[in-house]
Amino acid sequence: MQAIALIAHDGKKDEMVAFVQRHQALLTSCHLIATGTTGARISAATGLAVQCMLSGPYGGDAQIAAWVVDGNVALLIFLVDPLNAHPHEPDIQSLQRVCNVHNIPFATNLAAANLLLPAVIAQRG
Ligand code: PGA
Repeated sequence: MQAIALIAHDGKKDEMVAFVQRHQALLTSCHLIATGTTGARISAATGLAVQCMLSGPYGGDAQIAAWVVDGNVALLIFLVDPLNAHPHEPDIQSLQRVCNVHNIPFATNLAAANLLLPAVIAQRG
């Protein structure tokens, strides 16, 4: 089963946890992957099983990009904080690029995530 990939910058991690709690019933049947700190926060708050990569600044975004390239991601939700600079900006751009190359749905804010998650899960049946 293709995974749902979840990433949130520090300023957006509370929003990500609230998003996952809101959609928890849908997400229990999904294979969830996440960058290290985001995944730890989600699993502590919800009890959901999350396969955690390295933390984003240590290469976790690049690891998730590899999952996308390998065809193993159905949806990427990356809640970005546009008001702060991040040392791993090139990895973030690379994630966006591989999603565009491979035509993978990519939500970068809550409004898009709330629309895309139910749609992607419904499409998978
Ligand atoms: P983190 O990484 O979940 O390990 O904090 C997120 C990011 O890419 O900033």
